[in-house]
Amino acid sequence: MEYFSTSDARKDHGVDFRRATLDGLAPDGGLYVPAQIQHVDSDEWSARTSLTPSELAVAMLTPYVAPSLSSDELAEVCSKAFSFDFPLVQIEEDIWSLELFHGPTLAFKDVGARFLAECMSRFSSDRETIVLVATSGDTGSAVANGFLGARGVETVILYPKDKVSPLQEKQFASLGENTTALAIDGAFDDCQSLVKQAFADHTLRESIALSSANSINVARWLPQSVYFAYAALKLDPEAPIVFSVPSGNFGNITAGIFATRCGLQVHRWIAALNANDVVERFLRTGNFEPRASTPTLANAMDVGNPSNIARLNYLFDHDFDALVNEVDARSFSDTAISNAIKEVHSKHGYLLDPHGATGWLALQATREAVAWPKGTQMVFAETAHPAKFGEAIRRHTGLDAPIPARLAAFAQREVRAESLKANYGAFRSWLSERFGHH
Ligand SMILES: *Cc1c(COP(=O)(O)O)cnc(C)c1O
Repeated sequence: MEYFSTSDARKDHGVDFRRATLDGLAPDGGLYVPAQIQHVDSDEWSARTSLTPSELAVAMLTPYVAPSLSSDELAEVCSKAFSFDFPLVQIEEDIWSLELFHGPTLAFKDVGARFLAECMSRFSSDRETIVLVATSGDTGSAVANGFLGARGVETVILYPKDKVSPLQEKQFASLGENTTALAIDGAFDDCQSLVKQAFADHTLRESIALSSANSINVARWLPQSVYFAYAALKLDPEAPIVFSVPSGNFGNITAGIFATRCGLQVHRWIAALNANDVVERFLRTGNFEPRASTPTLANAMDVGNPSNIARLNYLFDHDFDALVNEVDARSFSDTAISNAIKEVHSKHGYLLDPHGATGWLALQATREAVAWPKGTQMVFAETAHPAKFGEAIRRHTGLDAPIPARLAAFAQREVRAESLKANYGAFRSWLSERFGHH
């Protein structure tokens, strides 16, 4: 399969899956997308209902990684990335929670991060690849744990000093091995700016092979289509399915929509948003107007300029009417989020995290506003374990999120971070000393 940048309308510069993965962002600043979407008919989907997540991943992704990965290699990659379950938990007669948080760091990003790490370590055999990640907390742990021990890859995590929760910090700054945590004297934006400056520094990049584990990477994006298909295939094939996906950068939901474009039967996709409602406005008006993000309770979705909108437009061939026919977006305030957490807990004994709560709210709102076909099965993605946001949940609802053993184990560990000023000269020297060829 060839990949093209979303900014390359004439499809002049095709690359293979390996190149697209190593590049991350295309050189012209666009996002890589597959040249063709292969249609899978309904008989073939039905034949996949008994597959494990890892087997389903191989079936779905084979055409998109060939010839960069053989089917044996893909099977190995998938067995590592899809090594845990994706349970569908029924909350009401017609509503299910698709729990995506059973991975090593209790977040859905574990799937994409592990898939990417496995691919990158296979692709970078000739030269050590340095993966730079700026994080405000959550992405760092999924990426650092995903890349832990990956051969030929060194991971550098930049995070704002004293501005992430102690447990989050331990999840990515205590690992050692091929990961280094850099505590930056500044804000998240400073970390991101240092990473961007390094990517734009061509002289530096001649001596160091830099790459990114950001959600724009195709190898992080594509595997996320698999668990939506896995869930859909477990439900009643005769009744329509609606998916509600808590969204920030729109990587997760666009991956799901990609599966629909490959023929998976889904009635409608709803992007569930916090107060950052740029995409809700876009779907209502047709105007995509990025703005500065606002901090909210569901902070992994505090995004004012979602990068995967380019992929969303590509998936619908830039046909806005087709897009709004299949995709909806609903935004919710912090008050609505904390009320939903309290209500679902008292009514159903199920504890939502703030992100999953927007997914739940979006289903409630559309159930009232849209007449779904009879028997519609509504599924929201639970993107993180509530314990990861335990402090916020306690503060706003008084409820306690029990900490699972996997997360508690991190509390015992010691942070081993290096400190650096938010200054590009300092960061550049640090990179050259650590990884440059002298
Ligand atoms: C990253 C994240 C999201 C948003 O996912 P996108 O792919 O950026 O839309 C939602 N919930 C949680 C818990 C996350 O960490």
